[in-house]
Amino acid sequence: MMYVIRNSDQDRRLPVPRAVRATLWFGTYLAVVVAPLVFATIGIVEEQRGFWREFSVSLGFVGLSMMGLQYVLVARIQTLAKPFGEDALVHFHRYMGEVGTVLILAHPILLVVAVNVDYMNRINPFTAPWAGRFGTLAALFIVVVIVTSLWRRALRISYETWQLLHLIISTAAVAAAIVHVELIGHYINQPWKRALWVAMSLGFLAIFVWVRVVRPIARTRRPWRIASITAQPGDVAEVALKPMGHAGFTFAPGQFGWLSVDRSAFSVTQHPFSFSSNADNPSEITMSIKRLGDFTSTIHTAEPGSIAYLDGPHGVFSPDFYEGQAYVFLAGGVGIGPIMSILRTFAARNEATRCYLFYGAKSVREATYYPEICELADRLDLKVVVTVSEPGEDDAADVEYGFVDMKKLDAHLPHDKRNTFQYFICGPGAMQNSIENALGKLGIPADRVHTEKFNFV
Ligand SMILES: Cc1cc2nc3c(=O)[nH]c(=O)nc-3n(C[C@H](O)[C@H](O)[C@H](O)COP(=O)(O)OP(=O)(O)OC[C@H]3O[C@@H](n4cnc5c(N)ncnc54)[C@H](O)[C@@H]3O)c2cc1C
Repeated sequence: MMYVIRNSDQDRRLPVPRAVRATLWFGTYLAVVVAPLVFATIGIVEEQRGFWREFSVSLGFVGLSMMGLQYVLVARIQTLAKPFGEDALVHFHRYMGEVGTVLILAHPILLVVAVNVDYMNRINPFTAPWAGRFGTLAALFIVVVIVTSLWRRALRISYETWQLLHLIISTAAVAAAIVHVELIGHYINQPWKRALWVAMSLGFLAIFVWVRVVRPIARTRRPWRIASITAQPGDVAEVALKPMGHAGFTFAPGQFGWLSVDRSAFSVTQHPFSFSSNADNPSEITMSIKRLGDFTSTIHTAEPGSIAYLDGPHGVFSPDFYEGQAYVFLAGGVGIGPIMSILRTFAARNEATRCYLFYGAKSVREATYYPEICELADRLDLKVVVTVSEPGEDDAADVEYGFVDMKKLDAHLPHDKRNTFQYFICGPGAMQNSIENALGKLGIPADRVHTEKFNFV
């Protein structure tokens, strides 16, 4: 078997500092968002149209531009996600969706309230000209997108159905808004404005085609096969995947991929799971999946041999991206998955850096991978602290009781050096928050604390 060995993985550390890259990306985002303001503010439009009308048009253009860029934020572009983390981009996507909606809705509202009551007729879908009808349609689609996103659970829409609806309706909203601008025509009637407008619209279209057509085609050329599914304690299944007719890929330990099984590579629904295997072995990748809902339950009983597609690697939750005098891993429940990948990879690389693992489980019996973790502790410079919240009779003598908290961290981490360590937290939301708080109280700088949130979508 051929392994791609990376020792210190310096190549994966960012050549340009994270803050610089983040600032550059954010600056580009802002520039694209405000670019369409030139349509309303530069050059002479057909007539003098008054401040409020132009202001409302500007808001509409900025809102449209933000909506077009929403695709980019969730397009899983690795170079864009690196300085921020994909969870941050998804959160940003959510907030910008809300801000963009407010701007887009402010456009017709201002026209009605501040410009001229007659505008009611111009946006009434029954009496309006086509430009107005498309504008109204775009606004209605946007409202549906935001309502179904904010209140998905209350509306009892399954995640899969919502994903499909979200894609179709938001695309329809952007398309209707583009037709609306095109039919109004005032703001894009000069050659250079027209060129900019066409470039923007084609840019939105290109991103869509790349994400929904080009990348799925690339995935169909790189299928995977489920090689085995092994039940693990804690209601977890370890799913092993082997590449079919291609070399697979290596990743940074701790990263994740988007998985679909027995579905077309064009399927909108894929599920994110962290890799749990040795990151340097491209010929077999494992994911440790806890039974939670529809997909995660089905995978426990999937047939070996099933065809899968894997989009990855993604994410920046990995010691390969950060230098530290020691690494501290804090895992709860199935959050042990990415940490296992890190420990297995470190063992294969003969990594000598000091490591600490704080692992919270209900009981030792429920602690996924406990025996293997004990073996890894012998092979690595690794101190393991297992804490159990529901101790059972069979619990090992060396476990601690309760949750991973400030007291336990303070007791096990050396006071003089712990500010120089890198911290990686992965577990249930409440555990992540309480550990982040505890580390803050211990004076650990925030930029040394990294989290992988399983519930970011
Ligand atoms: C970066 C990341 C890494 C993850 N790693 C792991 C892992 O290693 N092991 C593990 O067991 N779980 C992991 N998860 C969580 C896992 O993706 C969800 O539990 C799973 O997708 C739920 O699907 P379901 O159909 O079984 O559940 P459902 O009952 O359909 O949904 C339960 C909830 O899970 C979320 N969810 C559902 N479908 C998706 C989807 N397609 N994409 C994203 N979220 C969805 C939604 O918030 C939903 O409300 C990870 C999540 C993220 C974001």
